[in-house]
Amino acid sequence: MKRIIAVIALALMVMLAAVPLFAGGQQDSGSAKLVGIAMPTQSSQRWIQDGGNMKKILEERGYKVILQYAEDNIDAQVAQIENMITRGVNCLVIASIDGESLTNVLEKAAASNVPVIAYDRLIRNSPHVSYYATFDNYKVGVQQGGYIVEKLGLKEGKGPYNVEIFAGSPDDNNAYFFFNGAMDQLNPYIKKGQLKIRSNQTDFAQVATLRWDGATAQQRMDNIITAHYTNANIDAVLSPYDGISIGILSALKSAGYGRGAKKLPIVTGQDAELPSVKSMLAGEQTHTVFKDTRTLANRAASMVDAVLQGKAAEVNDTKTYDNGVKIVPSYLEEPVSVDITNYREALIDTGYYKEADLK
Ligand code: BGC
Repeated sequence: MKRIIAVIALALMVMLAAVPLFAGGQQDSGSAKLVGIAMPTQSSQRWIQDGGNMKKILEERGYKVILQYAEDNIDAQVAQIENMITRGVNCLVIASIDGESLTNVLEKAAASNVPVIAYDRLIRNSPHVSYYATFDNYKVGVQQGGYIVEKLGLKEGKGPYNVEIFAGSPDDNNAYFFFNGAMDQLNPYIKKGQLKIRSNQTDFAQVATLRWDGATAQQRMDNIITAHYTNANIDAVLSPYDGISIGILSALKSAGYGRGAKKLPIVTGQDAELPSVKSMLAGEQTHTVFKDTRTLANRAASMVDAVLQGKAAEVNDTKTYDNGVKIVPSYLEEPVSVDITNYREALIDTGYYKEADLK
């Protein structure tokens, strides 16, 4: 009799221990959930860091991870996502190349019950985006435009100064937020005549830079210098991204800026990428916006946890990011404006870079 009771008790224990497996949602090393991460390109350091951090954090949380980069090729990214769905991912985290090109592939994800988190860049024209993890993109633009306003002393009435405007890629929703944030700072001074744009190029379509390409920006800066600055100097350039800033600086240096009395203009940026931080230390690029990829990766990982456990993720914005079909619940992290005066505090003291990285 005792033996029978012992056997039944053991059987009950085994069954109880197995319950979480059947209940779903619980992680178990034997049935670890698989997360697919689709990143845009390795040509920019920030995305390498984003991908690396996401992979590390998700693996620490017990997931298996597929991480792929599409080198700014839209078709390649779609194919990678399709392949991840075929391989049975339980969740997708996507930083899109073209935010408008994923509508069909996200239909496939939905048909396979794979939830999608938009990472840093909004995915447009699809109802199948559960959450959006990003930074306050409008504020990034405010920091870039605001830096020019502050450093040129525009509030104190100084000027007129010559400024040129660059924007990001027209297929990236973020580019419009950066542009609008920055132009809301600069426009009052353009109207008052304290800022002059000799090229007259101020519309988004005129100043956009497809795929955020530094060489494209360099070419446009070359053309502007030749056409409009043979008898005048540029005092500031609004640049939305470090890779574009480096292209702009190359054009400026080829035209003799940074030598003798011809000072380099103020040049803004974004992402605190190593070449740009080094350029800042060398007295060239003036400004950048630091967006800690570790913070964003943690945020996206929490969203993955939530969707896979059928829980609501924490968000702090349910108004701003309309993707054309729905307003995507979002969490906006805080960007940090960085120049030579606070780079140490922002980038070294936080452990993002080591002093030796900047040599
Ligand atoms: C990101 C920026 C980045 C840009 C170019 C944007 O979507 O938000 O951080 O500078 O893409 O990669």
